[in-house]
Amino acid sequence: MREPLVVGNWKMNGTHESVQSLVSSLVKSDSTCQTVICPPYVFLSHVQSLIENSEIELGAQNLDWHKAGAYTGEVSATMLLDSGCRYSIVGHSERRGIYGETNEQAAAKFGACLSAGIKPILCLGETHEQRLAGKTDRVVEEQLAVVVEKNGVSGFTDAIVAYEPVWAIGTGETASPAQAESVHQMIRDSLSNSDVNISKDIQILYGGSVSDENAAELFEMENIDGALVGGASLKAGSFNIIRQLASQAAG
Ligand code: PEP
Repeated sequence: MREPLVVGNWKMNGTHESVQSLVSSLVKSDSTCQTVICPPYVFLSHVQSLIENSEIELGAQNLDWHKAGAYTGEVSATMLLDSGCRYSIVGHSERRGIYGETNEQAAAKFGACLSAGIKPILCLGETHEQRLAGKTDRVVEEQLAVVVEKNGVSGFTDAIVAYEPVWAIGTGETASPAQAESVHQMIRDSLSNSDVNISKDIQILYGGSVSDENAAELFEMENIDGALVGGASLKAGSFNIIRQLASQAAG
C-alpha cells in the first residue's frame, strides 16, 4: 500500500514574513498526509525551524550534482542535507525549459541526491507540441530511461517520480484524471520491466495546476499517489485542503 504524498513547490516566491505566516497555517492543520514543502534556498533554515515539531518535511527545488568546489551560485546535496532537507526536486520542467537542463544532468542530480541520503523527486513530462504529436509516452519513457541507466533501477527504491505535463504547469489547465492515469501507469509499467517490487512501491505524483477543486478526482486514480503542487502550495487554505483530500483518498 502506497502512502499518499503532497509536495509543495514554492518556486521563486516569498519573503521571511510570508513564509512565517504560510508555514504557521500549515503546521496547525490536522491533516495526517505525508507532506513536503520546498522553499527557495534562502528560506530553508527559517522553514526548518518553523516545522521542527510537526510532521511536515523539508525539500529543495534543485541542486548541483558536484560534491563541492568552484561552482559559483550552486548548492550541493550534502549542503541540502545539512540544512534539514530530506528531499529535492530534480529535473523540474522550469529547470529543463528555462535553464536548458538535460536528461543527463537530471540523472546526475538524481545520483547526487542518493549519494547524500536525499530522496530525489524526479519530474517527467511532455510539452504541448509533444502531446499533440502523440509523443507523450516516448518522451516520458526516454526521460525516465536516462535516469535508470545512470543510477540503476535500485536508485528508485529511495525516490519519488512526479509526472508533470509541461502544458499543465502554472496554466490552470490540468490533465484529466484519465490522461494522467494513463502516463502514471506507463511509468509504473516501465519500471516494472526492471524491478516489479520497486514499481509497485514507488510513489508517483501528479503535478500541473492541481488545486483544491480538481485534486479529489485525480487522487481517485489507482496510480496517482499524491501531488506536486506549485501555485496552490502558496495558499495555506488550498494546500491544506489538498493534503486532506490526499489522505481521504487513501483511507
Ligand atoms: C510545479 O511547480 O511543479 C507545478 C505543478 O506548478 P502548478 O501547480 O502551479 O502548475
